[in-house]
Amino acid sequence: MRYDYDVCVIGLGPAGMAVSIMAAEMGLRVLGIEKRSLGGECMSVGCIPSKALLRTAHLRHAVSRLAEFALAEVDPPQPVRPFARIAEHLRFIDEKKTQAMFAKVDLKLREGPASFVDPHTVEVGGRPHTAKRLFVCTGTRPAVPPIPGLADVAYLTNETMFGLDAVPESLVILGGGAVGCEMAQAFRRLGSRVSMAHMDEHLLPNGDWDAGRLLEDVFAAEGIEVHNGRKISEVSETSAGVVVKTNAGETLRGAKLLVAAGRRFDASELRLENAGVEVDERGIRVDAALRTTQRHIFAPGDANGAYLLSHAAMHQGMIALVNSILPRPFQRGFRRYAVPWAVFTEPEIAHVGWLERDLKANDVAYETIEAKYEDYGAAIAEGIAVGAVRAYVSPTGRIYGARIIGEGAAEMINEWGLAIQNRLRIHKIMMLQHAFPSMSFLSKRVAEGWAMSRMRTPWVRRLVRLVT
Ligand SMILES: Cc1cc2nc3c(=O)[nH]c(=O)nc-3n(C[C@H](O)[C@H](O)[C@H](O)COP(=O)(O)OP(=O)(O)OC[C@H]3O[C@@H](n4cnc5c(N)ncnc54)[C@H](O)[C@@H]3O)c2cc1C
Repeated sequence: MRYDYDVCVIGLGPAGMAVSIMAAEMGLRVLGIEKRSLGGECMSVGCIPSKALLRTAHLRHAVSRLAEFALAEVDPPQPVRPFARIAEHLRFIDEKKTQAMFAKVDLKLREGPASFVDPHTVEVGGRPHTAKRLFVCTGTRPAVPPIPGLADVAYLTNETMFGLDAVPESLVILGGGAVGCEMAQAFRRLGSRVSMAHMDEHLLPNGDWDAGRLLEDVFAAEGIEVHNGRKISEVSETSAGVVVKTNAGETLRGAKLLVAAGRRFDASELRLENAGVEVDERGIRVDAALRTTQRHIFAPGDANGAYLLSHAAMHQGMIALVNSILPRPFQRGFRRYAVPWAVFTEPEIAHVGWLERDLKANDVAYETIEAKYEDYGAAIAEGIAVGAVRAYVSPTGRIYGARIIGEGAAEMINEWGLAIQNRLRIHKIMMLQHAFPSMSFLSKRVAEGWAMSRMRTPWVRRLVRLVT
């Protein structure tokens, strides 16, 4: 059968961009369908604007700290309006950078949502298009918990938050994950009074718990109210804003309410049943090769619910495309790759590999080796002596996981990801000369710490005595 296209990609966020741009570069005929904007959630209402907001917030915080040291004057408080500037930058990226990347892709942009007619046919804007291989890269939407009263309140999610005119006087956040934490610190530093409530025992429940606890201390010092382990019993609205009641009897009030309580896969428009593509509680069901229940249909990115990270979505896009082309023996499983992640609060928190609690739960023998920023001259002198680089290492030097808290953590974690993914032993990190005085020098210090602990073993001492 002759198809209109070799490849059809539904949704052009990080996953869909990776598939469509790579496929077009390979000379395939590619149809890309996007109902909103190029770059997906990541570009318009996710990673990029949230990090831009955080950067503005951190700068404002830094200036106020300079004022404490009498090194700068601070103007009296003004309404803070960072959103228009962020929107302007996003427009520039879209017009001057992103659109050009799609030069070789046949684009259906803002013509409506795509839906399946049959396993090889997709309809958009009332017109059918056929393709040999299809990639469903439609991501997720914010999950809105079934809290009494919430549906009647004008709450914000990441999809609407960046459309605010000005930073609100006060903000209540439901959720203690990465988005909740980043936005709590951003809005606090931009002048809002912020309170958070969430169900887990600690902030950032998907990471090491002590990292979440450390962030709670930082937040407390900055005046962010954190309520862990709470259920929300009711939400209502008054002329002054929202009122949130918790099961512990607290009442949180805010001019605005942000719901950052996780993600959900939304299959309502896709009509996956027409294609024979099955979903489960996380999203579209995929195998290790990112194939759905139809051999020629793939679902990389957040739509399969595996990682919910942009870089993972891009990576999966690449893997899925390659797997759709290569014969089975050359195909790659997407779970064999390390997936570092980072939370861009101050201090930053980043992780790759096993969490300590998973090592414990699986009875894995490991040592924790740590180098603290407070013991590093460069960090002390630069006034950033908060945090630590930590690795979980086997007795023979295999690196199970790494966790970094502190300045530069999101940059530094990638070195550990490379080591874990390539099964490099920790002495390889020690033997790499790290530029000094960079913060990643602390990674080398961790490796040196591990090597030093080996030197203290009786057999090394005996060997040294023997040869000297
Ligand atoms: C506030 C926030 C901050 C974040 N920060 C980070 C971060 O710092 N680092 C990180 O790694 N991740 C971050 N993420 C997560 C990241 O945004 C997602 O993991 C990433 O965008 C997923 O990419 P994707 O391509 O799978 O899906 P998406 O980016 O969600 O793209 C899906 C696209 O499909 C389109 N679409 C959906 N249905 C249809 C249809 N039927 N027809 C046509 N088009 C359709 C949508 O309009 C959308 O453009 C953040 C998320 C949020 C909410």
